[in-house]
Amino acid sequence: MLDKEQAKKRYEELKKQTKYYSKMYYEEDNPVISDFEYDMLMMEVKSIEKLYPDLITKDSMTQHVGGSVKEGFKKVEHKIPLLSMQDIFDMNEIVDFVQKITKRAEEEKIENKNFVVETKIDGLTADLEYKNGLFVRGSTRGNGFVGEDVTENLKTIKNIPQKLSEKIDIEVRGEVFISKSDFEKMNQEREENEEELFANARNAAAGSLRQLDSNITKSRPLDIYVYNVQAISGKEFTSHYEELLYLEKLGFNVNPVKIFCKNQDDIKNAIEKIGNDREKLTFGIDGAVIKVDDLHFREILGNTAKNPRWQIAYKYPPERKETKLLDIVCNVGRTGVITPLAILNPVEVAGSTISKTTLHNEDFIKSKDLMIGDTVVIQKQGDVIPEIVDVIKSKRDGTEKSFEMPKVCPICGAPAVREEGEAAIRCTGIECPAKLYRNLVHFVSRGAMNIDGLGESIIDQLMDKGLIKNIADIYDLKYDDIAALKKNGKKFAENLINAIENSKNNELDRLITALGIRHVGAKAARTLAKKFKNLDNLMNANFETLSSINDIGPIMANSIIEFFNQDQTKDLIKRLKKSGVNMEEKTLNDSDNRLEGLTFVLTGSLENYTRDEASNIIEKFGGKVSGSVSKKTNYLLAGEEAGSKLTKAQNLGIQIISEEDFKNMIN
Ligand code: NAD
Repeated sequence: MLDKEQAKKRYEELKKQTKYYSKMYYEEDNPVISDFEYDMLMMEVKSIEKLYPDLITKDSMTQHVGGSVKEGFKKVEHKIPLLSMQDIFDMNEIVDFVQKITKRAEEEKIENKNFVVETKIDGLTADLEYKNGLFVRGSTRGNGFVGEDVTENLKTIKNIPQKLSEKIDIEVRGEVFISKSDFEKMNQEREENEEELFANARNAAAGSLRQLDSNITKSRPLDIYVYNVQAISGKEFTSHYEELLYLEKLGFNVNPVKIFCKNQDDIKNAIEKIGNDREKLTFGIDGAVIKVDDLHFREILGNTAKNPRWQIAYKYPPERKETKLLDIVCNVGRTGVITPLAILNPVEVAGSTISKTTLHNEDFIKSKDLMIGDTVVIQKQGDVIPEIVDVIKSKRDGTEKSFEMPKVCPICGAPAVREEGEAAIRCTGIECPAKLYRNLVHFVSRGAMNIDGLGESIIDQLMDKGLIKNIADIYDLKYDDIAALKKNGKKFAENLINAIENSKNNELDRLITALGIRHVGAKAARTLAKKFKNLDNLMNANFETLSSINDIGPIMANSIIEFFNQDQTKDLIKRLKKSGVNMEEKTLNDSDNRLEGLTFVLTGSLENYTRDEASNIIEKFGGKVSGSVSKKTNYLLAGEEAGSKLTKAQNLGIQIISEEDFKNMIN
């Protein structure tokens, strides 16, 4: 047991950590640890507070409801506070809760001693207010007392009725969420558009509802389940269950899993049933809620500063499954990184069959002391991404085989090396087909040469047929080669040939990006294009010149020199030149420096430009692009899902411009 001094020290540490994690979760909608890990930290906080109550301070996360009002939203004061809920992780504590409540009900002579067990939907609270049966205002929970006015955003959710079946004044509480299938679809689309993926459905829902532009909310597949009457005029109910049935009659989409329970056994069975059915539900849950049914009794029980005393949440442990590690295979990425992949005996974890998962790198395998044939424990991170979290060494029978990362590339056989200070092992083969494939995908991508239509499956087919053996072969493709790839491929071939042709006129920095030089991203490519004006100059630049350029530095300089020194690169450039690919910096209009002296910061995703494209344009007109907001920033260009930069810019009074404003500025 910790003595008081130790406890105090740990308590301060934990408060700092949980405060930071809560900020990321509630305010940025961007959690950095899993809910389970957070809950374990909070358990530690609670145990210290129980042991030494005089240590408790107001800034402990046990003392208030997380979250605050995001800049830009109108505030809504909640007449009836939207509180949180006490969490428990152990069935025995449910028994304690039920016994305590039942005893109190007897003392208070309450007849209805029933409970209702419901699914705890994993989304975010929405409070909906209706006047005369019409939806008039909706808000988030915020800190429980003051939330954000998100009326316009809530109006975009189809399942929120604008008009009820009765002309009544009512305020209800519900959970806004994204269904499992919609979430998967949404992340898939984001992946295809090379946008950052959402960590989980809860945060995707929160990020989507808390948007300043309701058009963005509208484009997201949000849904709602309503689960409580906060206030009502002209009607009285005696039980929660009765209220839920009335809400259905009014036209609300009510939480579909609500189990009426008469006693402790019913409650245990209901919790177990929800746990067993969890994977079949179309929406994600993070527990089951046990609620007192009698509304008058709820008033007697009242609330603590943070939680109602009449309900409690049971949190299911994250599902972990054992399976066998059948093999470890290695994939080769664009930059030649060789990534080990675990091949597993297929096992169902949290609703999907897992047959493989990444092992990241050599160090991960070593830290787990993983052997082929081991029995391993799989868990889904944030209920989505599977990971090996444990190895059961006691189940080893001597047949397990240790694994060594390959010394040669599994695809081309060239030496594979691990450079100092890096966790990754890379293929050094210049002609490695795996690298060629990844290089091609990168070369044609939106941020590089932007050759629309030349997707992964087409590249696959062209490589299979031997029509592409080198990046430069793209420019030798013939209409007939492409048309033969698809049924009715004439239109497709025509478009692709046009896209290839158009890409020859790209700006120089796109070509430099497309070459995929290690460490050289779009920003550095722009700097290089501006500085050297054509590719020949860049190819001939020496280390001193390169490393003295702002934003380039010695590592990039070395990498550039190494890249252009390779014969394969020289051949490639020669062929690209011969095909007519532009190798010169074409300054739009040298005299047009309309953005000179202005510093821009970009945030969120833009509809019509990638961030690199927008930065490029700003720099071409003489402006500067900075990565962070400061007093020196002149404009914040805010796209979809603008995050903390937007708040900071608002706080500093910096002018915020939309994509439309930006277009007007440059046209
Ligand atoms: P909570 O989410 O545990 O419980 C309260 C919420 O449950 C209510 O506000 C309501 O929105 C929701 N709910 C869903 N279905 C319900 C139903 N049928 N009846 C009543 N309420 C229902 O409490 P909280 O204070 O909002 O947040 C704590 C949670 O947030 C924990 O699960 C914690 O893990 C997570 N969290 C995670 C991090 C992180 O970094 N991962 C940080 C902070 C908090």
